[in-house]
Amino acid sequence: MNDESNICPREEDFYRENEEHLKKRRNKLNKKREELKANKAKESHWMKCPKCGDQMFELELLDIMIEQCEGCDGLFFDSGELETLLDITDRRGFFSSIKRTLYN
Ligand SMILES: [Zn+2]
Repeated sequence: MNDESNICPREEDFYRENEEHLKKRRNKLNKKREELKANKAKESHWMKCPKCGDQMFELELLDIMIEQCEGCDGLFFDSGELETLLDITDRRGFFSSIKRTLYN
């Protein structure tokens, strides 16, 4: 017995008549499911160190946001933060601030 024999003629008509609508809805639901899956994956990686996987915390030093890992002490810049730092003409203040904050 195949699947088609389980569908009554009225159901077949319904599916045929609404095929376009059902396909659109299926695609919309699939897209939503993929978005939820991607968000869940991002959540599990949020503020985790890309090297050791430990928790990272944020620091703001002279308007530059950086993350430091609690496990390996690695420092990371979000997109755009390094560019902002490079735009600052006198960067010595930033590096002195890092030294004072993290290594004293
Ligand atoms: Zn780490």
